[in-house]
Amino acid sequence: MTKFIFLSLAIGLVITFAAVSAVPEINVKIDSRVKRLKITSKDSFDFHFLRGEHEHKSTQKKLEFDCDFSVSNKNKTILFASLVSKNGKSDLVYGNKGFGGHIKLATSEKYGCDVIQSIKMNRYLESLLSKEMNGSWPIEALKAQAVAARSYALDKIEKSTDDNFNIISGEVHQVSGSSEDVTSKTKKAVKETLGEILINNDKNLVPGYYHAECGGKTFDPIDVWSGHMFDYRATTCPYCHHKSKNKRWRKRVPKEKLLKFISSYYGHEIKEIEKVEIIKPKEIHLKINGKNYIFLPSDFRKSNLSLGIRSNNFEVEKYERDYFILKGSGRGHGVGMCQLGALKMAELGHSYKEILNFYYPKLTVKKVY
Ligand SMILES: [Zn+2]
Repeated sequence: MTKFIFLSLAIGLVITFAAVSAVPEINVKIDSRVKRLKITSKDSFDFHFLRGEHEHKSTQKKLEFDCDFSVSNKNKTILFASLVSKNGKSDLVYGNKGFGGHIKLATSEKYGCDVIQSIKMNRYLESLLSKEMNGSWPIEALKAQAVAARSYALDKIEKSTDDNFNIISGEVHQVSGSSEDVTSKTKKAVKETLGEILINNDKNLVPGYYHAECGGKTFDPIDVWSGHMFDYRATTCPYCHHKSKNKRWRKRVPKEKLLKFISSYYGHEIKEIEKVEIIKPKEIHLKINGKNYIFLPSDFRKSNLSLGIRSNNFEVEKYERDYFILKGSGRGHGVGMCQLGALKMAELGHSYKEILNFYYPKLTVKKVY
């Protein structure tokens, strides 16, 4: 067991692991704020520990590390160790899952350790396709997903604000998997779209946003997020309805939650509801006690009230017995490619470029490596 205490860890250590290559390398945060971590491998791995200006190297098959400490470093991580397979082939096992490439360890922004996988973009995408779609889906849908996810990931690399990682594996960014998630089909999808990204008319890279199921129409980002994004356009999607098991959904929102939202949105407190009129159900325009309140579905969905609203594609159906009833369809933010729609398009015989052209009508595909 290896156990280090490194209170004197120097701030600002930067190590470059990536060799310059045509295929980029990406640093993926696969876990964060870990209290105690364990990494093993069936073969030996090199463990480099960095502490201040001193570097310790050792070779081992198992590492256990105590990360029960607090950190204060202005929301930046601090790199302190790297692990790499001795033969360059064997996976490093973390959380019972195998990971290729390097594993880097950094202090979390506030507490504990971050686990970061440094891996070639191709391998990263090969596991991601199984997580973000399904490794058994038609190849043209997987290829469309590969181009979108590659564009998203490269944009994250370009805009990284932390020295040690580019992207988080999780719903906040996109979910990548482990070596067990790589299949012959996901490898094929990555290979057949090698280096292809989405670009706009100015030939600039555009992140490929996507979501599970639009429910009939995709959204302009301005209606979902703040800020303009001219490279996207809302589209009517006729494809995902055929696939959706729960085409429509309903959600009961207690009046207290809606009033709390209005209070934070308008800075205006409503103590009790006497009368509700639904003026425009989709926008959403409500008249409560004779006063008008208008807000976007996305503002309501992303409020921190833990409402569990599945998509931005909903309207207010009615108000009854102290509950607002929402009626909607789809899952996810609704911007860009609808994954269930992409599946249906592929089944109908469309190519991945046709799928991308349908959901990203203002973008084109370009091969950059
Ligand atoms: Zn759709």
